[in-house]
Formats: sequence, C-alpha cells, structure tokens
Amino acid sequence: MTTPRRRLHIQSWGCQMNVYDSHRMADLLRPLGYEPCETPAGADMVILNTCHIREKATEKLFSELGRLRALKAETPGMVLAVAGCVAQAEAAEVAARAPYVDMVFGPQSYHRLPEMVARLSRAAGRVIVTEFETDEKFDALNGASAPQGVTAFLTVQEGCDKFCAFCVVPYTRGAERSRPALHVLAEARRLAAQGAREVTLLGQNVNAWHGEGPDGRAWGLGRLLRALAEIPGLARLRYTTSHPRDMDADLIAAHRDVPQVMPFLHLPIQSGSDRVLLAMNRGHTADDFLRTVDALRAARPDIALSSDFIAGHPGEREADHAATLALIGRVGFAQAFSFKYSPRPGTPAAALTAHVPEAEKDRRLQEIQALLRAQQAAFNARMAGETVEVLFTGPGRHPGQLSGRTPWLQPVHCDGPPSLAGHVRPVRIVAGHPNSLSAHLVPEPEAAAA
Ligand code: SAM
Ligand code: SF4
Repeated sequence: MTTPRRRLHIQSWGCQMNVYDSHRMADLLRPLGYEPCETPAGADMVILNTCHIREKATEKLFSELGRLRALKAETPGMVLAVAGCVAQAEAAEVAARAPYVDMVFGPQSYHRLPEMVARLSRAAGRVIVTEFETDEKFDALNGASAPQGVTAFLTVQEGCDKFCAFCVVPYTRGAERSRPALHVLAEARRLAAQGAREVTLLGQNVNAWHGEGPDGRAWGLGRLLRALAEIPGLARLRYTTSHPRDMDADLIAAHRDVPQVMPFLHLPIQSGSDRVLLAMNRGHTADDFLRTVDALRAARPDIALSSDFIAGHPGEREADHAATLALIGRVGFAQAFSFKYSPRPGTPAAALTAHVPEAEKDRRLQEIQALLRAQQAAFNARMAGETVEVLFTGPGRHPGQLSGRTPWLQPVHCDGPPSLAGHVRPVRIVAGHPNSLSAHLVPEPEAAAA
C-alpha cells in the first residue's frame, strides 16, 4: 500500500533552533506521506513554528492565523497547527481565540507529531500538547533526517536554568538538558555522509552542554568539539548561543587547538553596566566578559566576536547606556544583534516599575546600532586585499556567481563554477561591504603554492 502524498507547509519564525525544529517536524511527518511545499495555498497541513522572544509575538500569530483561516475554509481537510514558544506560553489563548486551529504543541512535544496526527484523524477535535519531555524528544529525534546541505544545524542542548530577568526561554523551553554525546556524534556523522561540510551546534546555552563521553568520562563542549573534528568531511565547526558564564578553559583551548573550530564566537553580554547586569540576573560582570574575551584572543588571535545587546532594560540609566557603548568600543565586534527591551509577560523584569520611556529606548538602541554598524563595516573593509578560505555553499545571486562564508561568517560573493559548492577554497577579497564581501578565486597554481 502506498502512503498518500500530502503537502506540508511550515513557517519558521525566530531563532536557528526553530529552523532546526521545523526540519525535524518535516522529517517526522515524511513517513506519513507529507512532503514540504513553499506556500500555504493548497497545503494539507500548515504549521506556524512561532517565537516568543520579543514583542508582538502573539499579535503576529493571530494576524497570520486570521489569513490562514480563510485559506482553511477554502481547502477541505487542511490541518492548521501552532507550534513553538508562543504555543507553549499561550496554548489556552490560542484555543480560545482561534478555535479553527487543529493542533497546538510546544517545542518540547513536537516529537509526538505522528501520534497527534493520528489522534486528530480518529477524533474530530483539537489536540493540545505542551508538556516538557526533552529527554524523550531527544530519543525520538535519532532517526533519519533529510539532508540539510553544505551547512547544517545540530541541536545538542535545550532549555535554560539561568532565568535572566527579561527572558521567556526558561518558561517556554523548560529546564536545561544536554543531548547524549553518542547521539550527537551519530547525527554529525549522518550529516557529513549527506554532504554537510560545516555543522553548527545549537542550544539556548550551547556551551553549558555536558555529558558522558564514549570513553565514560565527563565531557564538556570543548571535548565534544574535539571528537566532532575527527569526523571525516566536517571541515568547519561552530556553536551558538553561548553564555559568558559557561566559557570554560577547555572550550577556549579548543579554539586554539582544533583547526575545524572556526575563529568566530557569538557571546551575548546584553549590557556593559554591572548595575544592569545584576538587575538582569546575568550572573557575570562586564569585567568577567572582558577577561573571557582576552582569554579567547590569547588562544586564537584572529577570533572575531559577535554579541547581543538590550537597550533600555528596566532601571537602565544614561550612565549604564554609556557603559554599554564604552564596552562595545573596547571589544570591537565583527557583528552583533541589538534589541529594544520589550516586557515579556510572566518574567521578573516585566514586573519592575522603572521602565525606560519608549523614545529613550529608541534613541539608545539607535546609538548602539550605529556603533555596531560602523564596527562591522570596518571589520569587513579591513579584509580587502586579504586571501581567505571560503566554504562555498551554492550559487550566488547572479549567473556564474557562487555564495560562501569566510571563517568569520561573512557572506562572500565570488565568480566561480557551481562544482565548487561544498568545497573550501582560498579567495582574494576585492572589497568589503557593510554586510558582505566580494572576492575572486585564487588561481589553482597560486592556491597550491600557498
Ligand atoms: N541564551 C542566549 C543568551 O543568554 O544570551 C540568548 C537567548 S535569546 C533567544 C536571544 C536574545 O534575545 C538575547 O540574547 C537577548 O538579547 C534578546 N532578548 C531576550 N529577551 C528579550 C526581551 N525581553 N527584550 C529584548 N530582547 C530580548
Ligand atoms: Fe534567556 Fe538568559 Fe537563558 Fe539566555 S541565559 S536563554 S537570555 S534566560
């Protein structure tokens, strides 16, 4: 008996972990006959994989659901599902405000999708699953997965126990859990066999990863990276997102010792002021962060850094904002993300009274972003004339062009044959633009001599 072909459309909002989760949902539904499609029109199932990290997440969901409701009315049998962190946090509201939604499930329950689909077909009615079952989920994810391409993501850690005052993650993703080393190594081998040359390990606090290694010893992320570097075909390793408190000496040493570990690190600090860091419950000071940066630069002098900043956390004064600008000036970032503080319901910061006025938050954010933009542009401009190794990922925007990434994660556009996709080659950077680099391939004999 052949399984009927059905069309599945998944929209991913938010972080890379959501993108990874969406791929795994597609993997879980493939044996039931669901094949991914690009648009919701005519789909048999539409899943909105939502993000709750910043403001207006719930409004965005309900406005998208309003559009999909009309589509569902025209498409007999269409299943509409809400997944991700908004589903976890607002399951009851989704059920009340959007009764036409068939399934609501949180990020720690999606491994039960085949069972939910079966329940749905047996009983007319809605299926809501928002338990935290991370260990069970990790076990269920060890099966076959569709190839992700030259660069692949691999979730190794989920959840968070740090409870920063502003953040919803500990409430939507649950407690911190590490995926067993053997499972991670097996998935990485599978990805390499499917053509991945670069693997990015994912976790809300990826550098808090720990577990028992195949040698029976307690491993941290540094040791895991060393083991992953032995997998044939994996030319590049990255990991994100790290917490400054979990950057241990072995992980820093891995940047020195393991050539596959790329010289780029996303290490969010949020603020340069100790007063604000304390109010945020970050568990580190600005100096702690700077010492970690110094140790990373001593281990790997060409390491480039990225970070996250929040402008206008409750209680932030002008002097605190100035301290953030000073820290950015002192470190020099290759890129960074910055956000205006937005109160997340149920978090301790949202209950504070000293909220910064919107206009003030806007101004501070603009100042932070102007400085970060200038640093990023200067970092890219300094690359002009340099020869760097690029991992080519696929065709570029124009015919005859390839896209790739430098070790420092900068997008590169370069003339070259499509056959170079999946290969690491030296290129000469001809120009550094604000968000990317243009380059020429280094001719073969010159490359071989280099
Ligand atoms: N675990 C990571 C860490 O500790 O830095 C980051 C997790 S969070 C998914 C990504 C970023 O969103 C945070 O680093 C923070 O800058 C931002 N963010 C989280 N909650 C926020 C809020 N309430 N308002 C503004 N930005 C927020
Ligand atoms: Fe959120 Fe803080 Fe945990 Fe990062 S460390 S996920 S910001 S609570």
